[in-house]
Amino acid sequence: MHKTIVIGTGPAGLTAAIYLARANLAPLVIEGPEPGGQLTTTTDVENFPGFPDGIMGPDLMANMRKQAERFGAEFRTGWINKVDMSKRPFTLSLEGGETLQAESLIISTGASAKYMGIPGERDNVGHGVSTCATCDGFFFRGKKIIVVGGGDSAMEEANFLTRFASEVTLVHRREEMRASKIMQDRARENSKITWAMNRTPLEVVAGDAGVTGLKVRNNETGREEIIETQGLFVAIGHTPNTKFLDNQIETDELGYIKVKPGTSETNVPGVFACGDVQDHKYRQAITAAGTGCMAALDCEKFLEGAPVHDWSQTLG
Ligand code: NAP
Repeated sequence: MHKTIVIGTGPAGLTAAIYLARANLAPLVIEGPEPGGQLTTTTDVENFPGFPDGIMGPDLMANMRKQAERFGAEFRTGWINKVDMSKRPFTLSLEGGETLQAESLIISTGASAKYMGIPGERDNVGHGVSTCATCDGFFFRGKKIIVVGGGDSAMEEANFLTRFASEVTLVHRREEMRASKIMQDRARENSKITWAMNRTPLEVVAGDAGVTGLKVRNNETGREEIIETQGLFVAIGHTPNTKFLDNQIETDELGYIKVKPGTSETNVPGVFACGDVQDHKYRQAITAAGTGCMAALDCEKFLEGAPVHDWSQTLG
């Protein structure tokens, strides 16, 4: 029986593990199919404080893991099929039949950026293909960029990327967009954005130096075209990794775990959530790490039997 199990090893889970391990709680950390999370699919991380020359995403995650291990966090690889949260201790069933029990849980399984699933897309992640404008926009200064998508994310990313790019082409497979009117208007008013509507992406074209274009089908003419670009941002949404929870925890309409405002507490006592699995707004390594710290401190209080939040101490 474990005092606490951390599920997920992105910046949120690993920060929680560092704090829990330093509090002598010997957390067990479950690593899923993408150890280190989304940062392991990026190259340079230039906005994580403390690294003036930047750090490679995989190195940052390896360092966090080492730091957690140094204080006694235990890691194991596994895929959790099912969690029973109906009674404490909570029971986790792993693929292969093994079960684990814990008095408390920290869920930091993140969210996965959706990809289009076209040839050349996954192969060029980190070499011209990205799903995060805030993370990678800076690398495309003075270059031509394509953003794919017709929702608010695509509008936001396209606008943001005009700070760096010489030109941003927004490629969307239909004429109508899902994006809210205000976000569409903002993008329409931006003279650096050009529009390639009714174009279905077919293939990412790349050479030795990275991405050179996006092959699309023009849905009006039926013809295939190549739109030249040096960067391709896929902004077609994210999926929070909450399926394994089987609706036992309250989520919002998009599937993100709901936490009590300003805390990491879910609606199930003893279960805490941190990182992108409960945040579709900021989605940064540093905010994920911050919420990981909050989850560890909240969990520590819970295990002590103390109220997780003593609201009588809250100002205002
Ligand atoms: P979304 O609203 O689901 O839009 C996804 C877009 O990607 C759609 O236009 C969709 O096209 C397109 N798409 C999906 N799969 C595709 C594929 N395989 N190939 C090409 N295009 C594809 O997702 P989102 O923009 O990430 O927004 C998610 C939620 O977060 C929304 O509720 C949004 O309002 C919110 N959000 C808000 C803000 C903000 O307010 N600042 C910013 C970002 C997100 P179709 O339309 O043809 O299906």
